[in-house]
Formats: sequence, structure tokens, C-alpha cells
Amino acid sequence: MRTTAELREGFQRFFEERGHLRVPSHSLIPPADDPSTLFIVAGMQQFKPYFLGLREPPGKRVVSVQKVLRAGGKDTDLEDVGRTDRHCSFFEMLGNFSFGDYFKDEAVDMAWEFVTQHMGLDPSLLWATVHEGNPLLGLDEDRVAIEAWKRVGIPADRIVRLGKDNFWQAADTGPCGPCSEIFLDRGPEHGCGRDDCRPGCECDRYMEFYNLVFMEYDLRPGPELVPLPSQNVDTGLGVERGSCLLQGVGSVFDTDGFRLIMDWVESESGVGYGDGPVATKAHRVLADHGRAMSFLIADGVTPSNEGRGYICRRIIRRAVQHGQRIGLDRVYRLGSVVAEQMGGAYPELKEHAAEIERVVRLEEERFRETLARGQKELDELAGNAAISGEEAFELATTYGFPIELTQELAEERGQAVDVDRFRELMEEHREISRAGGESTTEQLAAEIAGAGTPASEFVGYERTDVLTAVVAVGPPAGSRQLVKLEQSPFYAAGGGQVSDSGYLVVDGTDRKLDVVEVLKFGDDQVVAVETGGEAVLEEGTRVRAVVEWAARFPTMANHTATHLLHAALRQVLGDHVKQAGSAVRPDKLRFDFSHPQPLTPEEREQIERLVNEKVFEAIPVRTFVTPIDEARKLGAMMLFGEKYGSEVRVVEIDGFSRELCGGTHVRSTAEIGPFVILNEASVGSGARRIEAVTAGEAWAFLHGRSRELDATRSELELARREAKKPRRPEQAADVEPEVAVVDGTNVIVMEVPSRGADALLDLSDRFKQRSAPAAVVLGSRENGTVHLVANFDDGVAKRISAGDVVKEIAPIVGGGGGGRPTMARAGGKNPERLGDALARARELIAAALG
Ligand code: ATP
Ligand code: MG
Repeated sequence: MRTTAELREGFQRFFEERGHLRVPSHSLIPPADDPSTLFIVAGMQQFKPYFLGLREPPGKRVVSVQKVLRAGGKDTDLEDVGRTDRHCSFFEMLGNFSFGDYFKDEAVDMAWEFVTQHMGLDPSLLWATVHEGNPLLGLDEDRVAIEAWKRVGIPADRIVRLGKDNFWQAADTGPCGPCSEIFLDRGPEHGCGRDDCRPGCECDRYMEFYNLVFMEYDLRPGPELVPLPSQNVDTGLGVERGSCLLQGVGSVFDTDGFRLIMDWVESESGVGYGDGPVATKAHRVLADHGRAMSFLIADGVTPSNEGRGYICRRIIRRAVQHGQRIGLDRVYRLGSVVAEQMGGAYPELKEHAAEIERVVRLEEERFRETLARGQKELDELAGNAAISGEEAFELATTYGFPIELTQELAEERGQAVDVDRFRELMEEHREISRAGGESTTEQLAAEIAGAGTPASEFVGYERTDVLTAVVAVGPPAGSRQLVKLEQSPFYAAGGGQVSDSGYLVVDGTDRKLDVVEVLKFGDDQVVAVETGGEAVLEEGTRVRAVVEWAARFPTMANHTATHLLHAALRQVLGDHVKQAGSAVRPDKLRFDFSHPQPLTPEEREQIERLVNEKVFEAIPVRTFVTPIDEARKLGAMMLFGEKYGSEVRVVEIDGFSRELCGGTHVRSTAEIGPFVILNEASVGSGARRIEAVTAGEAWAFLHGRSRELDATRSELELARREAKKPRRPEQAADVEPEVAVVDGTNVIVMEVPSRGADALLDLSDRFKQRSAPAAVVLGSRENGTVHLVANFDDGVAKRISAGDVVKEIAPIVGGGGGGRPTMARAGGKNPERLGDALARARELIAAALG
């Protein structure tokens, strides 16, 4: 095991072989009923209901690779990124979990086996930490964990007792328990040099990489610890840190998992990674933030002034700012590099590549305009001992400098920032403007919206092309002008539907100005118009406002289709189906809903058919506004947690669906055209996601399918003809060996895809030669039978005989066989036990060599 991909897969396989069920990663956005964190910060989060006994887990043992983001809120690691060798904001967490099944002893045994035998880490460099106890809670030191670590072979002086860091709790009350971490000593050259430097020290010498949490208590106010109904295990092993240790490189950013990204930063900027501390930090920040922003946007977060959107904005801006320091000014291109690096494991990156680039680019351009001016301002303050609250405030409001960025830059030159005063000023400012935040566009737009003119009238339900007038206007902001229209046909993003695009034509001219953003303020809106920095529009200017129909029409078709899908899901699956989120765009629709298991092929077909039937019935889509109580009486679907006014808009598809909705819809379901479900997948425990296309996109999809089918058919015919020709000798497909190093020997024990006994022997020869000195045991299934081969180097054969290994493992797969000390073969007729046979071989070899 060496690469990041091998670690990711090897961990899951290891625990799968030990009875764990693979569960896919949850989105970075926590489930709606878990407001405890802004983003998912650990693998256990999606399993909370299982620990609390609120829901039945899909299995008592599960394994996962979870995307996590520790940025914003109390869990932030953002400021550590670039400063240490081991911190990312976005990272992948491997985890094995037990819900009332195994506990401390087995968790320690498996962890130890995995890190020493599969990752091949040197046991003499490993340390463990355990909970030291807490008299307040009546807790003793964790003797069971201490004994377990001693039993696997860690000497007492490498077991460290820690307090707060080794007691895990999700909140002030609730499930909790002591935890125990594994550290690797990377040597004094990575450390702070202090005498008392040990695991738990902030420096980079001892790297924590695997944390085992023993969740066994419920923390009640008091505080008082009450045992939970069951004892559970929750663990986390960071992929990046694991790879760093596996590969023996200096930092997580030097692993193969970052290779393409780091190379790109180097070539795009022309500045080397090692060219001084500023460059090194900038490279790391860009690599990390490039991943963070891509995954965030792929999971539906876009820059804004609040909550998750604000963190997304901060991450992009911080990347832009660090990019600037090494002359890299196309941060938006990072998205496609990240997709290239990680798109194999995370297809969402490829799927949303265009969207990621577009969103980052917009934010980057907007920020760059102000950054240059702000930077100059900040440089002028360089001579001062400190930056005052007023100065920081000015930087934030006029130049869009987030306070965190000001702090970071100031800290680098040893300047303090009066953050308290800054916050005071910000608070006052918020009260005055009621808009808040640091973005000039939003602030200016809010001022225009609140300028005393009546709200812009949205006429986009009926019309997409209107003659109207500008009623309020701001000065050019960068290359744009912000204007409020008397009547606007442009839909402002809301209810899952994206904003309209379109343009304005100044009356009496043929000058076309693109509308690039529609900003919503309650019932009012302001549009951002690209004018190239000229003040083209003024109060009273007559304009023609036109929505881009080519985008609006498919958006409407997708929105109405979303309502049909929602109703169809409830009809086919049951009333427990609740909408958990949706995205309605011109090119496709996405619908998230609560449902405990994957759809069966039959259910999926039934749902697709039902929606298409409703399309072919050409049902009129009616909308009306009514008091909310009326709507409730009519049984209109309302979204849980959504705030509605006293008057609501109802969208009705007669006899089939009735929903509260402010979106734009087609007039008849017939306009939707074909409806095709592209895919259906899990988005965490208890929630599913459907993506679908309609209208032109659906036709294009079906058409593409039928062409593929034609191509496949002719390939098949070709293949049939080939097959009739005499057979060439069997060829081994490319298989990569999985290597675990035991006492200097490369141990390769694995299953390989189906092949005959002789081909298997050939492959084992190749592995043995390539990885000498090696002990190779391979298994393969072929037509309901199993082939096994053990192939050892002479040195290995002196310590353990291949013949003996095969003699012992062949009966597990219901067969027999044997051979020489260096080579032995067997067959069997029990393919489903192959995993067990290989596990046994691994044990035998480890025992003999270890
Ligand atoms: P540290 O103290 O080093 O920040 P932690 O105690 O916050 O780590 P845990 O919350 O126990 O870490 O997370 C479990 C595992 O996730 C860690 O053992 C580590 O492998 C990984 N991990 C945690 N934080 C980060 C990070 N910022 N970047 C990369 N990996 C991380
Ligand atoms: Mg931490």
C-alpha cells in the first residue's frame, strides 16, 4: 500500500473483510436536523441518529470515507493551513464504526493490524494517547485502552495520558466518551526541539493520524455521565496524513494526492514551492483552498455574505490573495485541476466543473478589483504598531477585505489588529444599513433597493420581454452598474430555482447590456448590468428588459417537472417522502428527499413513467395567490422549516400536485417534453438524490444513448466474429499489487479478477520479481471455483513454507492442495469464502515474519 487511492480503498476493503458495510460519504452540508456545525467535520456526523438510538443503522459495523470541511465556526482549521505540515481545511476522513457491536479491544486490535501490517508503518515509531480521567465526572484514566495498547506491543513509555484532547463530546450534552489516538514520531528534524515535546505538542514532529472514540456515555447537565444503552466506536483516519506517513514525505501537500494540483500552481505562477516561506505557504493555501472551494460548490454552496456562503467566499478570497503574492491570477482554473486530481473518486467534481469555474471566476473578478486598492491601503499602514478598529472597518467595507485576511496579513508583519473595536463598528454599520457584510456589490445594491422608491415589480411570471424604466441607480461598481427597474421580468434565485440571465436595451439605441446578476431584497430586487464601467444608465432611462428565453424555458420545464417528480415519489414510495432540497437549472434538475433505501429498478421506472404520463396528459398548470390557511386546507405541500407570509402562491397541476412555490412554471405539463432520470444516489443516511433532465436536454440524452447502443451493437458483432477465431494465449489484465511491508518483506495477499490457474501463477511470479523480497498469495474466482497460489522468495520460504500456507487455507474454500516451500497451488469450490482464506494467509505470514 503506497498511494492515496490504495489507502482509501485498502482501508475500506480491510474493514469490509471484517464485516463492515460500506456507506457513501455524506454531502459537506449537514443533515437538516443537525444544526450543530456549519459543515460536516467528521465521519460520525451522518451516523448520530444511530449512536443516539433514534434510528436503526443499516448494519452494526460500517466503514466510510467522508468529505469534511473544518472551516468556520468553532471547528475551523483554516488559519492553520499553510502554517503546519498536517492541516487542511477540506480533507477526507476514513472511519470504521461500531453501533453497539465491538468496543475498545477489538477497535485497537484492528487499528493496529491495519496501520502496522497494511500501511506498513514502523511499530517502534508509533505512540498512543489515552484519556487521563476527569475527577469532575468521576472518570478514571482509561485502563482498558492502556492495556489494549500494551497488549498489541506499545511499551508503557509510549502511551501518553491526555485530558481534554482525549475526551470527545459533540456538544455540552449528549453522546460522548474517552478517545485514544495513534501518533507517528517523524523525528526531531520536524519538531520544536523542546524537552517536553510529545504527542499532543502543537509542532509537526508527532503526527496524529488515527483517532478512536469510545462512545459510551450520555453527558447530562450537572455534569453527570450516564452510560448509553450501547457501547459504540467512532473513528477517524485522515487520508492526507495517512498518505504523508505512508510515503514518508514532509507534509500532506507533498503526497501523490496533491501532485497535479501542486504542479499546476508551480507552473501557473512560475514560482517554486520551496522558494521561501511566502511561496510555500501560498502554494499550500492554493492547493487546499482549491479543493475546498471545488467541493463546496459541487455540493451547492456559492459565495454570499452569510453562513456557509460566507465561508465559501472567504476561502475563494483567501486563495486569490495568496495567489496574488506569487503572481497567480487565474484561481478559477484550479477547479479543473482539482477535478483531474480527484474526479476519479469524486465524480461530482467533473460533473460540476463548468459551474465551479463560473462561480469562482465571478467571485475572483469581483474581489480582484478591490483587492489591489485595499492592499495599497494596508501597505500604507505597515509602519504603524497596530491596525485600529476603524482602519480594519474601512478595509472591510470599502475594499471588501475580510477581517480574517487583514488579521492574517498584519500578523505576518507582527502587527496587532483591534478586532473588538472592528466588531463594534460592524455591528453599528449593520444596524444602519440592515444589509451587513463586506461585499460592495451587495451593500450598494441594498442601498439602492432601500432608497425610498417603490419595490421593483416582478412581472416575469407572465412576460419575459418588457418596456420599462430605471427608477434607481448606483455609481459604476467595477465594470458594472446596479439598477432598479420599475418592472422586472428577471427571476431572482429562490426556492431552488436559479436567477434569470438576459439583457437590457437602452431605448432609442441598439446598445445591449448583459444582466449578470439579480439580487433579491425581500419583495424587491436590483439587477447588476455589465456596462464596461461606464455610467450608461440613469434614473428615468427607458429600457427594454429581456429574459434569455433559451435558458428560462428549460428552467421552467425543469421546475414544473420537479413538482411532478415530488408528487410521483410520494405516490410510488409513500408519504414519508419529504423534499430535502432542490436545484432547478436550465440544464437539469436535482431533487433531494427523505427515503431510507435506494430505489429498486422497478420503483425508479414506475416514477419515471408516472411523470411522463402526466406530461402526455397535457395538464394545465395553474397558479393562484391565497391566504395561507386556505392553502393548508387545500392540502398544498409546504416545506418544513420554510417561512411563509400570510398570502401564499400555490402552483397546481390539476388532480396530481399542489405546492406552495414562487418559481416560474410552464403553462401545460406537455411543454416539459420527455422526462429522464439520470441517476439516483444516497446523500447521507436517510436521504436520496435524483437528477433528471427534460425537454431538449432529455431528447439529447436519449439520442446519445441510442447512438451508443448502435456503436455497442456493431462492436458486439465484431467481438463475436473475433471470438470464432482460434484463441490466443490468455492475457493477464493489468493488476496493481497491494503491498504490506512486514519486517522488510513485501507481503502481497490479494484477490485478483477472474483468471485461470496458470495465469494466476504467472501473475504471482511477476509480483514476486517486481517486489522482491516478497511473499505473494493470490486468489481468483473462475466460474464458481477458486484458484489459490502461494509464491515465496527463498528467504521467506526458510521462515514459512508456501506449501504449509496453502495446506491450511485451501480447506477454507472447500478444496485441497499443496506444494513446495517456495510455491504451492490449490483449487476450491467455495468462492464466497475466498476473503477468509486470504485473511488467514495474511495472519500466518505476519506471524511467521513479524
Ligand atoms: P489535530 O489536533 O492535529 O488538529 P484533531 O484532534 O483535530 O487533529 P480529530 O478531530 O481527532 O483530529 O480528527 C480525526 C483525524 O482526522 C485525525 O487523526 C487526522 O488524521 C484527521 N484530521 C483532523 N484534522 C485535520 C486537518 N485539519 N487536516 C487533515 N487531516 C485532519
Ligand atoms: Mg484539530
